[in-house]
Amino acid sequence: MGIGTILIGIALLVVVAALVVAPLLEKPQPANEPLSARETLEIEHQSVLRAIREIDLDYRTHKLSEADYKDLRRKQVEHGADILRALDAFKSDEQIDEEIEAQVAALRSTNTMKVERFCTQCGKPVKENDRFCAQCGATLEPTHEETPS
Ligand SMILES: [Zn+2]
Repeated sequence: MGIGTILIGIALLVVVAALVVAPLLEKPQPANEPLSARETLEIEHQSVLRAIREIDLDYRTHKLSEADYKDLRRKQVEHGADILRALDAFKSDEQIDEEIEAQVAALRSTNTMKVERFCTQCGKPVKENDRFCAQCGATLEPTHEETPS
């Protein structure tokens, strides 16, 4: 094995290491002005919501694999929940009661709603039981809970 092959091997390792480490180093920029603990949490909460929206978009445009998407999204949702819990410390009991009611209502509506599907070819949203994409005509994978006719 020549020195060239070894150098290429090392270069590849460096590239792979950079790809693995880069996302871990990406953190929201700290604000310059001093903020109250509550303001900081609210800003952080907004950034988590934005991150989740971006993850959803990356998944729809096939920049993320399903496994990466689920993993990244779960982390952001957990982070968001931590922030909300911390923000709760600033809230009155009445506000917390209202929020729980709103969350219960939201949960109820997601339970009755079908999961959104997207065409694997063009990324356009498709209906739960569609067999073909209405946009590009691609054959769609059948869903797990397809009812036998
Ligand atoms: Zn399509």
